[in-house]
Amino acid sequence: MRKNTAISTSDEIILKLKLLAREKEAVRRKLAVTAKKLAMTATRLAITAKEKEGVRRKLAVTAAKLKTSYETLEKKVLDRTKSLEMSRVKEEAILLSIGDGLLVTDEKGNIIIINATAERLFGKKSKDVVGKMFSKVIPLENEKGMAISFEKNHVITAPTTSSPTANPSYFFMREDKTRFPMAIMATPVVLNGMVIGGIKIFRDITHEREIDKAKTEFVSLASHQLRTPLSTVNWYAEMLLAGDVGVLNEKQKKYLDEVYRSNQRMVELVNALLDVASLEVGTFLIEPEPTDICKLTQSVIDEQRPQIDAKNLTFSFLCGKDVSSMQADPKLLRMVMQNILSNAVKYTPEGGNIALSIDLAGKKNLLLKITDTGYGIPKNQQNKIFTKLFRADNVRDKDTDGTGLGLYIVKSIVENCGGKIWFKSPYGNVKCGTTFYVELPLDGLKKSTQ
Ligand code: ADP
Repeated sequence: MRKNTAISTSDEIILKLKLLAREKEAVRRKLAVTAKKLAMTATRLAITAKEKEGVRRKLAVTAAKLKTSYETLEKKVLDRTKSLEMSRVKEEAILLSIGDGLLVTDEKGNIIIINATAERLFGKKSKDVVGKMFSKVIPLENEKGMAISFEKNHVITAPTTSSPTANPSYFFMREDKTRFPMAIMATPVVLNGMVIGGIKIFRDITHEREIDKAKTEFVSLASHQLRTPLSTVNWYAEMLLAGDVGVLNEKQKKYLDEVYRSNQRMVELVNALLDVASLEVGTFLIEPEPTDICKLTQSVIDEQRPQIDAKNLTFSFLCGKDVSSMQADPKLLRMVMQNILSNAVKYTPEGGNIALSIDLAGKKNLLLKITDTGYGIPKNQQNKIFTKLFRADNVRDKDTDGTGLGLYIVKSIVENCGGKIWFKSPYGNVKCGTTFYVELPLDGLKKSTQ
């Protein structure tokens, strides 16, 4: 029994030993797997370190490259800044050395730049005007010495209109009370469609004016001298045509008629030149007196009647019932009407229509309107119609007589009297024709004192 017990104990031990051996084997195997994993991890770590070193090297190279590019860029920026500064200084030097007076303003009209010529012209120093309103420090005036209102001062309004404006009739009075006329060109500065300021170029035109005046005086003198011989030719031609020294045959009459008509044209031209001269020299007198406008117009029409009838024109005249006598210079008003009416007659072909009307325009003005069904005025020449000696191509082609001075004289008279003249001619339409409008102040023309 004891022996049996001893056997079973050793079996148990063997069994346990076997179990232990198996467990040991399992642990060994696990350890082997772990060792393998560790070896793998070590290999991976070795690779990562190598990669890290590679990246570090690459980074170092990139950093070196960046440093070089930065230095190059810095140099380039420096060079560019220098060259920009140089060209800015050059541009400013060019601007400041322009022979004409130059002023640059911002969009509000404050002066930014003034060049040496403008400083000299206006008798102002750059430091005293830069940053200040142009209209305050450079007040402009008209020929008569009156300040030009803000709205009428194109030099100020040019930046708001975004188009250049030229106006030759501005004056400036320096602090030492010397005054000079100037030609001004005001141009807006536009950036991306927005007006950001204005450039004004000024030129002292005292000398040009003096030359102009001398020329006008010469024309006036020459015209006066021409009048006498022309009157003599006129007088003798009339006598001959009237048969005072014997009857002329048809051919002689025809030739003499031509002499007489050419002489008449010459008289008209000389008279027109004299009118222009006295308008420009400023000796044109306005002598207002109570004038019956309708009656005066009717007499102008009567004078033109032979030409109206010769061309078979239909003529209508309407004088508004409220148009009464007003203060006007009948001599000047007659000149205005004669010119516009004779143009309508001259530039309307046979069988056409002319309508003349005079009426009140509002409470303050008188409006004269002459519509014809004539040749019209070509669109591309309409802006020149009131300039001296201008005649449009379409009427020159038609061989009508004219001096090109009539409308220039009319406009000067009307504007000197405080009125306005304009026209409409829808040229290109089959029935184009022209309508001239003259507006005159009802409160009467101001008497000129010269
Ligand atoms: P002119 O002596 O040539 O008529 P004006 O100064 O009176 O000179 O007119 C200038 C020009 O204006 C004319 O030559 C003509 O081309 C144009 N004009 C004036 N009035 C008319 C009109 N009613 N119809 C067509 N053209 C006209």
